[in-house]
Amino acid sequence: MPITGIYGPDDFAGRPQGQIVTPRVQPTRAGPVLPMPALEWTSAVERATAPLYERVKHVIPPVEWPLMAPTIHAINELKRERGAVVLAHNYQAPEIFHCVADIGGDSLQLAVEATKVKANVIVQCGVHFMAETSKLLNPDKTVLIPDSRAGCSLAASITGADVRLLREKFPGVPVVAYVNTSAEVKAEVDICCTSSNAVQVVESLNAPTVIFLPDRYLATYVASKTNVKIIAWKGACEVHERFKGEELRAYREADPSVQIIAHPECPPDVLAEADFTGSTAHMINWVREKRPRRLVMITECSMADNVRAELPDVEMLRPCNLCPHMKRITLSNILESLLTSGEEVTIDPALAARARRSVERMINLKN
Ligand code: SF4
Repeated sequence: MPITGIYGPDDFAGRPQGQIVTPRVQPTRAGPVLPMPALEWTSAVERATAPLYERVKHVIPPVEWPLMAPTIHAINELKRERGAVVLAHNYQAPEIFHCVADIGGDSLQLAVEATKVKANVIVQCGVHFMAETSKLLNPDKTVLIPDSRAGCSLAASITGADVRLLREKFPGVPVVAYVNTSAEVKAEVDICCTSSNAVQVVESLNAPTVIFLPDRYLATYVASKTNVKIIAWKGACEVHERFKGEELRAYREADPSVQIIAHPECPPDVLAEADFTGSTAHMINWVREKRPRRLVMITECSMADNVRAELPDVEMLRPCNLCPHMKRITLSNILESLLTSGEEVTIDPALAARARRSVERMINLKN
């Protein structure tokens, strides 16, 4: 069914202004600064990184590898020295995702997997809310983000105060927050969800109406899959909302055999054209299983590169959009992060305890 109502900052007279600022991390350092290693393309570096190049040779030209390999080699050496583990989101560039990450996946997979590793330091290659989620689930570990300015249009669209205003307007209606929210927002809601489990989470509440925030398009998608009435928030992912259904129709007309898969953060006219709709993890599994000959993957560009590195026989047609926030993370600032132990992500312990409860309630639901 269509969403029941949609609200945003303009719908609340007297809403506290000027508070949407993410990320709000204060750059801090968690340890001593190490000297910069020599970053030279030597035969030793070439030998040490040859197995890594095998993983990305279909998406990184040979001429570019000598420029990247010395930094990749230095990062992998420093990880051992620092006792660090690198987590990389599916939207990170292939030289990060395939060559320096110990764990890759969607934001929740990363945070949950991080709870299983022995390393005391986590370097989060993703955006700030992901680093916060890792910190929530790993409160005793040091979580570093190479550039704390890596934000997200969804996380920036809503504050904890906005959630309180929604609760006042709809007393007794439970609130579900997509993981793409700040810890401050997670602390105000009943439970979190991902794009993989959003419908399951909404239905788990056994309520006739649920407030679902902040992504209006994911809310619309969820509403189409359940009989629960959905009240949405006017947030959107600036990457996925730019896709257009007509552009997908053009791909289909040019080659009727093409397969189209899309992320549920896309607008409804885009999802209407897709052969499959799913989270990043579900899309990757779909491609592994179906092995389409030609594929249009409607999500952030780097995910198509990362999938193509693994499955070079799948031809990717690429109407992709870059996430400027994800692209703030580079090999250079990952190296700097390991050298300087910056920038450390910290969360007020009382707020973290409330936010953690919302994330853990979702994780426990899966089991
Ligand atoms: S792709 Fe969209 S949802 Fe993901 S971090 Fe970028 S702006 Fe946020």
